[in-house]
Amino acid sequence: MRNGNVLISGASVAGPALAYWLRQYGCTPTVVERAPAPRPGGHAIDLRGTAREVAERMGIMGQVRAAHTGARAMAYVNAANKKVAVMPSDVGESGGVIADIEILRSDLVRILYDATRQDVEYVFDDSITALVQRPDGVEVTFARGAARTFDLVVGADGLHSKVRSLAFGPESTFVRDGGQYMAIFPADPGIELDGWELFHNMPRRPGDPSGYGRMAGIYPMRDRAQCRAMLAFSAPPLPRGHTDLSAQKQLLADTFDGEGWLVPRLLEHMWQTPEFYLYRPSLVHLDRWSAGRAVLLGDASFAGSIGQGTSMALVGAYVLAGELAAAQGDHRVAFAAYEDELRAYVTDCQKPIPGGLKGFLPPTRTRIWLRNQFIRAIAHSPWRRMFTGDLEKSSNAVTLKDYPVVQETRSKGVA
Ligand SMILES: Cc1cc2nc3c(=O)[nH]c(=O)nc-3n(C[C@H](O)[C@H](O)[C@H](O)COP(=O)(O)OP(=O)(O)OC[C@H]3O[C@@H](n4cnc5c(N)ncnc54)[C@H](O)[C@@H]3O)c2cc1C
Repeated sequence: MRNGNVLISGASVAGPALAYWLRQYGCTPTVVERAPAPRPGGHAIDLRGTAREVAERMGIMGQVRAAHTGARAMAYVNAANKKVAVMPSDVGESGGVIADIEILRSDLVRILYDATRQDVEYVFDDSITALVQRPDGVEVTFARGAARTFDLVVGADGLHSKVRSLAFGPESTFVRDGGQYMAIFPADPGIELDGWELFHNMPRRPGDPSGYGRMAGIYPMRDRAQCRAMLAFSAPPLPRGHTDLSAQKQLLADTFDGEGWLVPRLLEHMWQTPEFYLYRPSLVHLDRWSAGRAVLLGDASFAGSIGQGTSMALVGAYVLAGELAAAQGDHRVAFAAYEDELRAYVTDCQKPIPGGLKGFLPPTRTRIWLRNQFIRAIAHSPWRRMFTGDLEKSSNAVTLKDYPVVQETRSKGVA
């Protein structure tokens, strides 16, 4: 295939998934990742709708199922850990608040890396610093390694994509700040979870101008004594490049100081773990996902869905590689077709959740109580789908094409 020498920036979900599919079409992808190894950490993520079909076609579904977190139900609890509102979990395989495929992000990243590491060149601990597009290729300069020329460059490097800033323009043009922080880290909750994900809301702190409350949550990790803890709160963004872990942890400690439930215990564990991830969910929108020989994939081009970012990354990787193969490497045709195929699906997945951030982080005790009463009232009614919006519909809003070469390999039982 023409244009088969492809550089992918980012080795999380989108990057390795794309590398996998490009290899199926005989390309030679190189993946450059800023971190020294595939990054651990992060939330449990759901594989929904069409993304499950992609995982099936990659032949990784067995490993994905084996890594299920064990979560099967979700409830809001009060400070005494009494369940005060139980979310419905029976609205279809792709539509429940907990998808039937829920695995830790780090487990999925490991599975994708293992599926590709044998025949894909991975370059860790490096990053692109400059791109110069020529009619027949892209000259790429790296922070550490020697400059190289590639046919195409893919930005699968997340919300703060370097490829996007080099080839498309400044981040502020494309990223809309979500207004809240989420911190994820492993902790020992000291209670038996038995498959429950538990969340506890706290009202807005006195003097906090944000208009939102705070939330702490815990959810199970398969076969592990520890759980994942999640703390969510609204706050102005930290200055860019604010990567000092202890300063980030101190922000959490100050924000949740003096609270009840399991919060003091979770904060204690937070200080002990190096596996701490603080992020700021935000919406990414670009009118075009490609610029010349550079194209964006995953969070770099369409972050901002609730719970579908990983699914979109997997589906996007499948479609981008497939369209390149279908166009026999003609990147202009392929990039336009990639966007045509995915735009409506992505737009559907990026729709805000019902109740918005106020439903997630109610600011007062009264609003928390009202939210819980609302859940209790309709949890078993025909309107229970309101909690998740139309996840079932949006996660299935794209139908996978059978790209020619894949059909061939699948019929031989390879893919
Ligand atoms: C450590 C981590 C934890 C996460 N935790 C959560 C979570 O708890 N909840 C949630 O909703 N989403 C989380 N995400 C985001 C989630 O993985 C994505 O929304 C989704 O899976 C789409 O993945 P992606 O591959 O497009 O982007 P990402 O998963 O964001 O991956 C981008 C990759 O690019 C790398 N990278 C960034 N800049 C450069 C650069 N200049 N050069 C080379 N490589 C670069 C990053 O290190 C990362 O490995 C997390 C991402 C990471 C990296």
